[in-house]
Amino acid sequence: MSSKVRVRFAPSPTGPLHIGGVRTALYNYLFAKKHGGDFVLRIEDTDQNRYVEGAEDYIVQSLNWCGIPFDEGPGKEKGFGPYRQSERKDKYREFAEKLIASGDAYYAFDTADELDAHRKNHEAEGKTFIYNWHNREKLKNSLSMSQEELKEKLESGDEYVIRFKSPKDELLKLKDIIRGDIEIDTNILDDKVLYKSDGMPTYHLANIVDDHLMEITHVIRGEEWLPSLALHYMLYRAFGWQAPEFAHLPLIMKPQGKGKLSKRDGDKMGFPVFPLEWKDPKSGEISAGYREDGYFPEAVVNMLAFLGWNPGTEQEFFSLEELTNVFELERVHKGGAKFDPEKTKWFQQHYMHEKDSGILAEKFEKVLEEKGVNAEKVYITEVVDLIKERAVFVEDLWDQGYFFFISPTSFEPKDAKKAWKEDTNNLMQELANLLSAENNFEAEHLQEKVKAWIKDKGVGFGKVMMPLRIALVGALQGPDLYKIAEMIGKEETLNRIQKAIISLDS
Ligand code: GLU
Repeated sequence: MSSKVRVRFAPSPTGPLHIGGVRTALYNYLFAKKHGGDFVLRIEDTDQNRYVEGAEDYIVQSLNWCGIPFDEGPGKEKGFGPYRQSERKDKYREFAEKLIASGDAYYAFDTADELDAHRKNHEAEGKTFIYNWHNREKLKNSLSMSQEELKEKLESGDEYVIRFKSPKDELLKLKDIIRGDIEIDTNILDDKVLYKSDGMPTYHLANIVDDHLMEITHVIRGEEWLPSLALHYMLYRAFGWQAPEFAHLPLIMKPQGKGKLSKRDGDKMGFPVFPLEWKDPKSGEISAGYREDGYFPEAVVNMLAFLGWNPGTEQEFFSLEELTNVFELERVHKGGAKFDPEKTKWFQQHYMHEKDSGILAEKFEKVLEEKGVNAEKVYITEVVDLIKERAVFVEDLWDQGYFFFISPTSFEPKDAKKAWKEDTNNLMQELANLLSAENNFEAEHLQEKVKAWIKDKGVGFGKVMMPLRIALVGALQGPDLYKIAEMIGKEETLNRIQKAIISLDS
């Protein structure tokens, strides 16, 4: 590649960024970083009717949370700004006019009602109305009217749009990095609107002009934009500009059944489709986010990377840096990528176990505070070390390890029934006596002592260990029991045994 790679993520701020959008951003980021290029954020907000308060901020925060910040964009000016299309409004008109001058575009005055009537008439005959070469000479536009008429209409302030004049009888040969060669017959294309008399360009014109002015070399975007590729290609040609390379990413499909993944699938099956929680500014409705649901960005990024791409090896866990090294657009799949919420959990579990216990302890401390528990950071870290492999989320650490912080408030009835038999009280009292004589409460030492005592008594191992676990934990769960005793200490261990004896006396 001769010129510096420059890619852009160009979302419209119409609501929270769907995880499909995050994947598009991620692939752009990986491609840019792999090639030492720039990752640009451009906000495509030309459609003011669909603008949603807070959406841009949400996009920026989402990228930052995922660890894929943009190099250039709103607030990070690098000479190609402004990066919001609404602030570039004045740039587009001259380009629309250039196309009129070169004969590649024309003014059209058909009103919305007139176009609607055409559509209805066609429908009545079982046809579809397309505004293009086969009828444009008969419609109300600068191709069908005299110069005088046109001048008069423009001067009198009649509403118009500027349409692209798509050619007749041409076979366009397009290229897509993922899909290969694509041929499009121009006869099926309609003359898309490029500019409206309210002074706003449409997506197509603004997108092409900006990609050109911002020196974008690769356009990596969702498959839903593939139908626009022919028009974009023709626009570059009409302007005499070199087109960037294109890569259209596969759709993200529902976990079950057919069709694109929607928010409804997430609501139904209980998983978020947004990176961060989103509160709709109008309705106040809250949509779940991966961050608030306790996922780590590493897990979400790893999951998204595999949603439509694979490295061609067995390796499944990748840090962002590793992804950057191996990512190739050529390895992106053509077919839709089925979303699998369980896979996200699986990645999360992996990163949970991998995560430094000190970092987890900091997060867990907040959970503990909510439970009214105060503990030393060193102690919390030690606990996390013992239980993190049993947890998927930080929140789970409480269920897996509350007994390191508080005495069990109840005894799991089924477990207690299984563990606490008629002779258990006596056994536990004897064990308490044994332990109270111990000054060394280190797990290994305790294990030695208790094991020897059990052997001496000639009782089954479970007859002691199960009720002891009930006493210390409240249920038949948790890590090594001697370690628990060591951590909570002698006094607490003895208290818990006494409490269980009193509560479970049968
Ligand atoms: N504004 C478009 C979107 O919302 C951008 C499409 C493109 O990347 O060309 O996805």
